Amino acid sequence: FFLLPAVFVKSATNLSTIPENTSIPEVAFIGRSNIGKSSLINGLVNRNALVKTSSKPGHTQMMNFFKIGDRLSLVDMPGYGWKSRDEWGGMILDYLQHRKNLRRIYILIDPSHGIKDSDSQIMKLLDESGLSYQVVLTKTDKLSKTKYSIAKSEVEAQLVKDAICCYPLVLGVSSRTKDGLDELRAAIIKAGQL
Ligand code: GDP
Repeated sequence: FFLLPAVFVKSATNLSTIPENTSIPEVAFIGRSNIGKSSLINGLVNRNALVKTSSKPGHTQMMNFFKIGDRLSLVDMPGYGWKSRDEWGGMILDYLQHRKNLRRIYILIDPSHGIKDSDSQIMKLLDESGLSYQVVLTKTDKLSKTKYSIAKSEVEAQLVKDAICCYPLVLGVSSRTKDGLDELRAAIIKAGQL
């Protein structure tokens, strides 16, 4: 499925300019700036530069919409950190709450840093809105197997304690080594019922 051609659809800075909510299932990716979101979306669709990556934090200030064939819509949300939490939360919630075909939100966390306050705040917003999300740990190549496994257990423990609408399976990916990409693709296919 992920071998179907992926194309850029459009960038938007607010609700009035986002693509129409068609019947195509949609999944969105969110995370702190520099979390590896652009690299991950490129990795998922096997493209080097579908999403422009940047080492500059806060570079992605728009929602970017992509399509795989005519069957799945992927949304790259702005990294948090470029606007105040309330502004970011307001825009994101506007989008997330009005998107009928949004099947799941992938929230990206760096296992070297764990769940930060800004991540918890966003998860709380999603919980309050009853929106289904799943945690993906990024850049797993940066940690030894042991350190990664400890970091993952800590994240899982915190989610069990605090999160409500979180899908229980925490995934790990490395865009650099491609580890975990197939598992994430499978999860997306399942979430989108494709
Ligand atoms: P974004 O701001 O969340 O879109 O993050 P980017 O995809 O632009 O990545 C931010 C930085 O992390 C860049 O310097 C990437 O090269 C690096 N990076 C992204 N993914 C990985 C990964 O899987 N492993 C490692 N080691 N570095 C990564």
